[in-house]
Amino acid sequence: MDEDQDEPIGQYNDANRAFLQAFLARGTMTFKESQPVLAAIFTAQEGQTVESEQITQEDFDSYVSAASAAISPFDLEIRSAMHQLRKERVYAVVNTTSDPITQLATLHSADEIAFVKRVIDAMFERYNTPRMEALCLDEMQANKLRVPPRPEENEDETMMENGEGQSQAPKGLKSSEVESVMRSMVDEGWFERSRDGFYCLSARALLELRSWLLDSYNDPDAEEGEWQRVKFCEACKDVVTIGQRCSERDCLVRLHDNCAEAFFRTRRQRGCPKCSKEWTGRHFVGERAVTETEAYQRGRRRSGKSARHSNVAEEIMHEDDEEQEEDGDEDGDEDDE
Ligand SMILES: [Zn+2]
Ligand SMILES: [Zn+2]
Repeated sequence: MDEDQDEPIGQYNDANRAFLQAFLARGTMTFKESQPVLAAIFTAQEGQTVESEQITQEDFDSYVSAASAAISPFDLEIRSAMHQLRKERVYAVVNTTSDPITQLATLHSADEIAFVKRVIDAMFERYNTPRMEALCLDEMQANKLRVPPRPEENEDETMMENGEGQSQAPKGLKSSEVESVMRSMVDEGWFERSRDGFYCLSARALLELRSWLLDSYNDPDAEEGEWQRVKFCEACKDVVTIGQRCSERDCLVRLHDNCAEAFFRTRRQRGCPKCSKEWTGRHFVGERAVTETEAYQRGRRRSGKSARHSNVAEEIMHEDDEEQEEDGDEDGDEDDE
């Protein structure tokens, strides 16, 4: 940073502080969202109107990096990643030391936090298998998680050690509370809800929880080529929870939709970079792994608009579970039972 006596450009000033304040209040920001914010700041600073359109990516970048430097003593950092669906980069203030549970604790009760943890576990475990990487769930499925598993099934040792485990066990939520907690997770920026009513982790959550997700769901001793619950995009190296997968079930190559488009634009053949099987663009990670199935479409036709209030999604994902237990072989992707 250069120091100029007359124009303290490289110096942290009121404009930077105002920007950081706006950023912290939102938690995330895109370049587009930053434009009116920076325009207002520049207008105040320069005493003449600066329009949003005049704000450049360079303006934004310099304010982001100044803000990031300013917050680093507080174990905060600004990280960014492309949104998995929208073609825009999302910047988020990320706490580099505290775990997500601690952060949720300021706004939620212990029972709510335990429920949210069960929801995230379900996204990455129950609804994320080698055959079907849905990595999302609908409200009906979330509702099934409102009560914690019974102590017999619960392997939580601290609860077992506790002589009065039963009375100490968390209570769980009512159905009406499930709805409001899920909604507040969307409002607070942790979950995103799709048009079809599926909840998945938001771009911000993926940035913030990246290492926690790896610690929680991936096996550090897994061998090369072994299926893991958290996977990364072959092109951009960020986590993929919505995107495309290789048509070869045992191949681990995953790509975001945007990344796949760019990746194959420069190549003559649409082959998987690892196993060279044809890249169909029709094998999905995320909710389309469910919604693009024949069974889901059929169910939706049958029940019309109320499809998301039916059990269709659960049936498709669960059917998958059962196959999972029996199989080990790969006898085609069609469900011909
Ligand atoms: Zn990518
Ligand atoms: Zn492949």
